[in-house]
Amino acid sequence: MRPSQLNILFQQTTTLAGVGGKTAALLKKLCGSCLIDLLFHLPSNVAYRRRITAFSQITSGTLCTVRLRVTSHAAPLKKRRATPYRIIGECIDFPAEIELVFFNWHADYLSARLAEGAVVVVSGKAETTNGRIKMLHPDYIAADWTGIPEYEPIYPLTAGITSKGLAKSVRIVLDSLPPLPEWLDQPFLAKQGWPDWQTALRLAHTPKNESDVSCLSPARARLAYDELLANQLALALVRTVQRKKAGKQLPLSQKLVPQLLQGLPFELTCAQQRVIKEIADDLSSSGQMMRLLQGDVGSGKTVVALTALLQAVEAGHQGVLMAPTDILARQHYESISKLLKNMPVRTAILTAREKGKARKEILTALAAGDIDILIGTHAVFTDEVIYHSLGAAVVDEQHKFGVQQRLALCRKESGVNLLIMTATPIPRTLALTNFGDLDMSILDEKPANRQPIDTRVLSLKKAEELALKLREKMAKSTPKMQVYWVCPLIEESQKSDLAAAQKRYESLQKIFGNRVGLVHGQMKGPEKDAVMNRFLAGDLDVLVATTVIEVGVDVPGATVMVIEQAERFGLAGLHQLRGRIGRGGEKSACLLLYGEPLTQTARARLKIMRETENGFTIAEEDLRLRGGGDILGVRQSGLMLFQLADLSCQGDLLYTATQDAKMILNTDPQLKSARGQALRYLLYLFRKDEAVINGLN
Ligand code: ADP
Ligand code: MG
Repeated sequence: MRPSQLNILFQQTTTLAGVGGKTAALLKKLCGSCLIDLLFHLPSNVAYRRRITAFSQITSGTLCTVRLRVTSHAAPLKKRRATPYRIIGECIDFPAEIELVFFNWHADYLSARLAEGAVVVVSGKAETTNGRIKMLHPDYIAADWTGIPEYEPIYPLTAGITSKGLAKSVRIVLDSLPPLPEWLDQPFLAKQGWPDWQTALRLAHTPKNESDVSCLSPARARLAYDELLANQLALALVRTVQRKKAGKQLPLSQKLVPQLLQGLPFELTCAQQRVIKEIADDLSSSGQMMRLLQGDVGSGKTVVALTALLQAVEAGHQGVLMAPTDILARQHYESISKLLKNMPVRTAILTAREKGKARKEILTALAAGDIDILIGTHAVFTDEVIYHSLGAAVVDEQHKFGVQQRLALCRKESGVNLLIMTATPIPRTLALTNFGDLDMSILDEKPANRQPIDTRVLSLKKAEELALKLREKMAKSTPKMQVYWVCPLIEESQKSDLAAAQKRYESLQKIFGNRVGLVHGQMKGPEKDAVMNRFLAGDLDVLVATTVIEVGVDVPGATVMVIEQAERFGLAGLHQLRGRIGRGGEKSACLLLYGEPLTQTARARLKIMRETENGFTIAEEDLRLRGGGDILGVRQSGLMLFQLADLSCQGDLLYTATQDAKMILNTDPQLKSARGQALRYLLYLFRKDEAVINGLN
């Protein structure tokens, strides 16, 4: 249970004065729903409102705070509020006249706040002309200097939230911070020159200059370190516990796996053989398997995963494979069923589409142990699903399946051996922060029969011409060449994107007749499957698709991929898409069509696609081009983002935190010492509840 002192920080933002449901919803979108999320939402900049005591200090167009005595009001004759209302004043601290201009004014308000003869302080953007100051809509009107902040934090915002409002809320939270014991090592803290946690938060939210908002400032470094340490400590904790925890021990398979491998229509790559052995050994040992399998698209992860599932089945348990989407689950189901043909293994599929009686039957059979391998979407881990005895779980391409989810699964299915698979190359930093609790296996070799993909970049204007050429080639090819034609579908512009895909479909129909199909995300499952299946069966030559085919779907006959507006895709996305072709022995081609004008960076990115097929190289180059702004494509990859730490400039802290976490658990595995107790607070602050529950008693 979270220590009660911390509860105040986990209250909803609606508990703050001035924050209603609507604001809370916006805040949730911006940073989160609890008070702690406000604290962890740091300013990105600082505004300096210079207190002007001499005319020469004013720079036109900058924020200034000026003391004045109101001399006269120039209300517009007409009561139309669109006409500006002017108020003239005389500066107190130096001889000059100041004119305040208001649009959309309320006369009552202005006469109350800026009564003739009153001395007030105003702050806003000032313009100077001929020794006169003009200020449109002051941001602040106060009775004296102290009523207006000299420095003001500027927060990353969303429409409907202002920095001023946010700063006010943050101030309330800062005033009620609970006193917490120091969890960092004192000598280390002193050496770094970092403040304590409370001071760090205060300083981070009240920057006085630009270096205060830089990620190198001591306050920010401290906060980032806390977050990284909490993360690495949670991972290390989980790892230690998991290592010791008895997993379901699955003896090496003598029958099913050999039978599967003998029946394969291809030779395993050396990498596949190595990884299959790593997994088999891990499963047959007493500890619980927690393993990450990295392998580029097309490296042959499915068969590797299947050996793990079969080892569980042969040992009298069940296996489950979870895919990110319905269509992928179905494809896995089909390819696995094919691989298991003639073997005594009972498989079933479970997604949101299995309903009513059929669903009930599956669930009953599963609980009775009458299903050996279940394949599906996240439905397979919901509470309604009860396994007879789950021995191995494989999670495919689910980057959101983070450490918390892994722990929750282990709690639900005690002793389950877990294999997570990803085709997204994971750079070292991210592997450390997201998968530090897992062992690694890497498929770094593609099946030998793969031919290099001929990738070309051309203008979208050439689309028609290209289609005609493809038709010509198609007529001559045996077996008949099939073409994926991908149109982008970006969430923000869904409607127009969909219309564009529809239009392309129609124009391709003019060329390919009824041998063209269209699939997109708005289509219903069965409808989509029907089109996909026709393409798979070779009844369609061209499949126009939005990005629904992005991961996993396998059509061996497809050897050409056209990607429209390729510049709108991330490199990782393009790489995944291209991985759909070049799977058989035929020559394959990928045509990247770009919309004009093409920016320099976009051009460079497409060039990388042309030059390499190596997912790791692509990821690295992508990072270089992004210039660290979105480090390692974290956002794109869907991998976890930190709230406070910015790995592009605080990456070295990560390594220190990783060492620190190791050292802590070596000397105090149950976090019982004084520092250990303090570290528990840290874990809760960063919502590592699962790690504490699982890792400590
Ligand atoms: P991944 O999931 O890693 O992207 P898949 O497991 O879907 O890749 O495999 C892609 C295709 O390659 C499948 O059609 C599969 O049958 C085939 N395949 C897998 N391993 C080999 C191999 N060693 N040699 C030839 N083809 C293979
Ligand atoms: Mg796959």
